[in-house]
Amino acid sequence: MKTGLTPAEALEIVLQEATPLGAETVATERSRDRILAEVITSTRQLPPSDNSAMDGYAVRVADLARASRDNPVELAVEFEVAAGMVPDRSVEAGRAARIFTGAAIPAGADAVVRQEDTERDGGRVSIFVRPSAGEHIREAGEDIRIGDRVLETGASMGAAEIGVLASLGRSVVAVHQRPRVAILSGGDELVEPDGEIAGGRIVSSNSYSIAAQCREAGARPTYLGIARDTPDEISRRMLAGMRSDVLISSAGVSVGDRDYVRGVLDKLGCTLRFWGVEMKPGYPLAFGRFDAAGGPLMFGLPGNPVSAMMTFEQFVRPALRKMAGHSRLFRPTIRARLTERLEKKPGRLHFVRVVVERDGDEFNARSTGNQSSGVLRSMIQARGLLVFPAEASVLREGDYATVQVLDADFFHEAGPAF
Ligand code: AMP
Ligand code: MG
Repeated sequence: MKTGLTPAEALEIVLQEATPLGAETVATERSRDRILAEVITSTRQLPPSDNSAMDGYAVRVADLARASRDNPVELAVEFEVAAGMVPDRSVEAGRAARIFTGAAIPAGADAVVRQEDTERDGGRVSIFVRPSAGEHIREAGEDIRIGDRVLETGASMGAAEIGVLASLGRSVVAVHQRPRVAILSGGDELVEPDGEIAGGRIVSSNSYSIAAQCREAGARPTYLGIARDTPDEISRRMLAGMRSDVLISSAGVSVGDRDYVRGVLDKLGCTLRFWGVEMKPGYPLAFGRFDAAGGPLMFGLPGNPVSAMMTFEQFVRPALRKMAGHSRLFRPTIRARLTERLEKKPGRLHFVRVVVERDGDEFNARSTGNQSSGVLRSMIQARGLLVFPAEASVLREGDYATVQVLDADFFHEAGPAF
């Protein structure tokens, strides 16, 4: 087992072990936020035929070469084409067909004149404009042609993807399975939110923040509860999570006398790939796999609430996204200008919780304040995590640094942009 890895080394090991899960079929309607596990190649063209973009008249451009408001051209209206019907007649010279939006263009016609540019009188219509060839006609296949690769595997299903799939006649779609994550908390001091906190107890907030982070990452969390600090109980609860894809425990994978988790992992056949990552917050992170059982990946997150969320953010989230089939594993980043000086000891990379503000086309960042790993409230304020490189000891006011964007609400405007 390796120890004292850089975050980059640790992430590489995690992503080697995390591989995309198999596919399952879901109703297209219910596929939002899922990740495609198939290539979508169109077997149809859209629109299926040339059709009208307007209510008006299907005409022959050659008949209207001299048409104008002062000099209208009169055409005989021979028939009507409504949306959804296939015209069985063609438009002959000197004639027009009444047509509605979305209706197929009849043979012979090569433009549509808007109703507003005409005047109808019984079986005849006066045309006031000279259309150009193809005007107000939506061409067959202008959206999608037969054989087009419309979506690639790894695409995230959003409203537009769902609409396009529906229009291609796909009511079901193959997507990657969502990783199942079992979450275990451990510690004699922990209670559930409705529990009694007198006598040195605290609420197991990690159970809640981690489950929410799992959902945000597209995974399906289940909760294994709180294990008291005894090897038997840790072991018993962990066993209940062996059929998941990932097992996350928080607290206990450390070096304290009551940190039994490592011993239990050994007994249950979990090989640790590393323990300890040179980052702050979040050093005591353990990662491995329950090899013997062909079992889940194992993340032993630190117990401190911010450290737990931070290590989840940096390692578990990309792993879950990779398992869920995502091609984009990481948060977007920006370069932001510091509005205050930051200092630390060289050696470990720090992720600094920062408030981000937009300043024209630039971004300003400042620390949320107290960066202690127990100050969970700082994660509410943090819009991003500023990467303070391992070897650096000072970032000056005015320096630029990379910020992982957790919440892009600094882009939000008070009102609409129009
Ligand atoms: P440990 O790793 O057990 O030494 O815990 C480190 C710190 O994290 C201690 O202050 C614990 O009380 C706290 N802690 C451990 N587990 C949780 C949890 N599930 N929720 C909130 N805090 C926790
Ligand atoms: Mg503990």
